[in-house]
Amino acid sequence: MTLPPDKEVSFKDSVNLSFDLARATLDIPEGMAQYIRNVKDVYQVRFPIKIDGEIETFIGWRAVHSDHKLPVKGGIRFSPMVNQDEVEALSALMTYKCALVDVPFGGSKGGLLIDPQKYDRDTMERITRRFAFELIQKDYISSSTNVPAPDMGTGQREMAWIVSTYASYKPDDIDRLACVTGKPVSMGGIDGRVEATGRGVVFGLREFFRHPDDVKRAKLEGTLEGKRVIIQGLGNVGYYTAKILEEEDGAKIVGILEYDGALMNPDGLNVEEVYQHKIANGGVKGYPRATYVEDSMSMLEEECDILIPAAMEGVIHQGNASRIKTKLVAEAANGPVTFAAEVIMREKGIANIPDVYLNAGGVIVSYFEWIKNLSHIRFGRINRRWEEGKNEMLLQAIEGAGHQVPKDLAARILQGSGEIDLVRSGLDDSMRKAWQEIRQRFWSHDNIESYRIAAMSIAIEKVCTSYNTMGVYP
Ligand code: NAD
Repeated sequence: MTLPPDKEVSFKDSVNLSFDLARATLDIPEGMAQYIRNVKDVYQVRFPIKIDGEIETFIGWRAVHSDHKLPVKGGIRFSPMVNQDEVEALSALMTYKCALVDVPFGGSKGGLLIDPQKYDRDTMERITRRFAFELIQKDYISSSTNVPAPDMGTGQREMAWIVSTYASYKPDDIDRLACVTGKPVSMGGIDGRVEATGRGVVFGLREFFRHPDDVKRAKLEGTLEGKRVIIQGLGNVGYYTAKILEEEDGAKIVGILEYDGALMNPDGLNVEEVYQHKIANGGVKGYPRATYVEDSMSMLEEECDILIPAAMEGVIHQGNASRIKTKLVAEAANGPVTFAAEVIMREKGIANIPDVYLNAGGVIVSYFEWIKNLSHIRFGRINRRWEEGKNEMLLQAIEGAGHQVPKDLAARILQGSGEIDLVRSGLDDSMRKAWQEIRQRFWSHDNIESYRIAAMSIAIEKVCTSYNTMGVYP
């Protein structure tokens, strides 16, 4: 079924329209479908903070979309544009994302209406701690029922303040470190969480390029090597995605779009250099080895092989979709392509790897972090040296049989797996498996027109199975 792109709808309606298309391909009762589709509960809070002698009031939300699995999971974003519709849409995406990649969490999301650039570090700490306190009080943060993580405008720093606030109110919760993920490693975080969403995007792209039918559908060929990539947003997700694609896969990052302008270089940009320039100067303007374009959004329309929106939702919409010239859109951000835009792009033959799959790396590694916190032990601590001992015996046996193993290979064989190796391996496995399920569903169903609908239909089916198995509370 294709809906005409007659009007733009809100982010939440966009997610729900995709839900409806996916649900239409499944045989599930209408009552169950309606229950899964809608947000379970949402908490809105207002709180005052005294700043320079004046009272400022802040408003925030935490939405729980589904609790078919506990805890529910989803980031907290700090943004001057966040609103309840957006938080609800993002919480629904979390439900489908977790189900799709087999992470046993329900879906949730939080938002605080704030421009973090306006306040100094100490003020941000007071605001974050107070917001956390409000959420803890109502059980919207808890190691067993609701576990936030970073999102736009938040990172390790904010997660450290949240866990420390939680620990001071719940010192008797022995699993208190598990109340939030994305923490610094020194406060119970896990190696590889900061890069996880970006690395997951790359693992997803690599898996896509392993399947010739998918590559051909996008009118591409070969591997990621040499592919011309434009990326929007050089924040947490965009930076790691671009850096790994450039350094490990040989892709050419020909465009980097930021809020203050875009950098274009057909020979490829040095991502680390651009990132350091952005940190030092607060934006990309002034970076010397590229053409600078002030109208950053217009650069989304430049020709390239892969366009990666990694900043925010709704950037490809009804107004610019017909001018998009890429072959493949890889949705690293949440909701970057509106429902209407996707219809237009599909008619143009542009393939799309959906957010609900592609940026799931963050929650996958958050799951590993949460398990690490519950187990109170770092991954690899017990088995690493044992593994190394076994590997050494194996190597001795091979060499004893007269086969010389090259030195660099021997060194790699000898090495036991540390936390980062296990995290990356688990992330890679999860991303590969989920894409294989999506493409299998897509290619085997004539009535499924996009990878997004394939992904959503798998997710809805899994959530439905959970509710069916547990039954409905009388
Ligand atoms: P971030 O705040 O670290 O980075 C966002 C970047 O985008 C910043 O560099 C900002 O300057 C830039 N930006 C903002 N508006 C822009 C615009 N109009 N044009 C160009 N650039 C713009 O946020 P993030 O954590 O990287 O999140 C980015 C997206 O990825 C969001 O949609 C978020 O929901 C999604 N996401 C994040 C995670 C995570 O683990 N952080 C996980 C899954 C999905």
